[in-house]
Amino acid sequence: MRAPHPVVVVHGGAGDVPVERHAEAVEGCRRAARAGLEVLLAGGSALDAAQRAVEVLEDDPLFNAGTGACLTEAGEIELDASVMEGTGLRAGAVAALPPFRNPVRIARAVLEEGRHVMMSGPGAAAFARSMGFEPADPESMITEASRRRLETWKQGRAEAGWAGGTVGAVACDASGRLAAATSTGGRVGKRPGRVGDSPVPGAGTFADDEAGACSCTGDGEAILRVGLARLAVDLLRVGLHADEAARAAIATLGRRVGGTGGLVLLDRRGRFAACWNTRTMSHAVARAGQPVVGDIVAPLQDV
Ligand code: ASP
Repeated sequence: MRAPHPVVVVHGGAGDVPVERHAEAVEGCRRAARAGLEVLLAGGSALDAAQRAVEVLEDDPLFNAGTGACLTEAGEIELDASVMEGTGLRAGAVAALPPFRNPVRIARAVLEEGRHVMMSGPGAAAFARSMGFEPADPESMITEASRRRLETWKQGRAEAGWAGGTVGAVACDASGRLAAATSTGGRVGKRPGRVGDSPVPGAGTFADDEAGACSCTGDGEAILRVGLARLAVDLLRVGLHADEAARAAIATLGRRVGGTGGLVLLDRRGRFAACWNTRTMSHAVARAGQPVVGDIVAPLQDV
């Protein structure tokens, strides 16, 4: 087998970003992919790189993760995030986490501690504090745009509470290790305590060095029911090319449960694909020695 290519692929959420925001959304993804690649070039692992890319997007108020996350029907932030590495199949996740600036770092701490895979709600917050993370002032993470989105949803003008702007990353390092990370505020107007696909290994996030890595976005209830990230990686396992596997997985999401969403997918040689059945999904890819490319409407395909 040829040596794997170090690569980071990120997405900034499936949805329907208005045309005037396309450039901004793609630029955010490019910045994140570049930051992830810098970690790989400095000798960091695929897991470090995927986590770093997601942190950058969590800090960007444009995206529905960390700062700028969408609000529950009670007007509060509840965050879901996960990380998974493909060598030991270790995973860490937080669900319905109250405001902390970078939930993906807390998910990583869950993985590193290794006692549990997923922590939720007040227990996740207590865990985070015990690991030295400071809770954030909720007001500092709630944006005007997320308040407006909740208002629009309450007036029945937003389709099914869709927020868009979930973020995720997959990475492959020079040793062929794979990792995935995903972070979101979930759906606008969700019930307090609702948990989507993003923190669930196999649903929103999956990585296995023997096959591939995937981060998903979209209708979380539908993605949970088909186990979308695991499905896409298993299609690589049986020999599909990354692009075919990504398309087949998204087709299954639509056909079996009427779901809409998207994903980024990497195989174990670092070949990648992005696919979605919503109007837009911002995404970007960073590879050593090549310009960082990004788009929001045309699927990225391996070259
Ligand atoms: N999948 C996320 C959720 O359902 C939302 C999204 O990707 O837009 O929580």
